[in-house]
Amino acid sequence: MRILAFGAHPDDIEFQVGGILAKYANRGDEIYMAVATNGSIGSFRMSKDEISGVRRKEARKSADLLGAHLTWMGFEDEFLFDNEASRLKFIDTVRIARPDIILSHVPEGDYNPDHNAVGYLTFIARINASIKLIETDHPPTSKVPALFFYSTLAGADFIPEYYVDITETFEMKKKLFLCHESQQGDWCRDAFGVSYIEMLENESRLAATQAGTPGCSFAECLKLCKSWPAVAGAYKLLP
Ligand SMILES: [Zn+2]
Repeated sequence: MRILAFGAHPDDIEFQVGGILAKYANRGDEIYMAVATNGSIGSFRMSKDEISGVRRKEARKSADLLGAHLTWMGFEDEFLFDNEASRLKFIDTVRIARPDIILSHVPEGDYNPDHNAVGYLTFIARINASIKLIETDHPPTSKVPALFFYSTLAGADFIPEYYVDITETFEMKKKLFLCHESQQGDWCRDAFGVSYIEMLENESRLAATQAGTPGCSFAECLKLCKSWPAVAGAYKLLP
């Protein structure tokens, strides 16, 4: 199977679906990680160019650890908009991956505007990638993949539909996330007084508690994009 995960910033994918992607990787599926923005505002000490260079390397390290392809889309952090250029880039990214399933942010309701923009651009791209007369560098896809939206930060204003037990891959999820070393101290702790890794653990535990499955200590949660075509039996594509 082929899986494409979009994230607004380097580390969003690992935070929300790192465990799911590790499960896909363990069974030999082909994984594409697409990072929309360059993470250029994620520091209080470095310049924009410096921090985005660091974050690109961190994203590469995480993708390599997972055995995934990385698409660095390079939009400016906090300034991702729905326009012709961004639509074409998202469409081309779907065409490169030719996914059976896409995982992405919700199009509205998350705390960060880039997250919501990525959700909406993904929503547009999953169908438009298959349309021949919309031209990009890669040929159109032959089918419309299932699209699942992953949780918002802290699960705020997000009602999950599906839970994936990630107990077996939780350690790997943490390793992938910790590849984004620059965000652990300088950014979250110093700027917002938040331990990002503690949040990740708490949210994975909460999802497991909600799932209520015996033996499930950690989980990640999703909801299906139900716009036409919803793709019948899409939940069977989850690991
Ligand atoms: Zn983000």
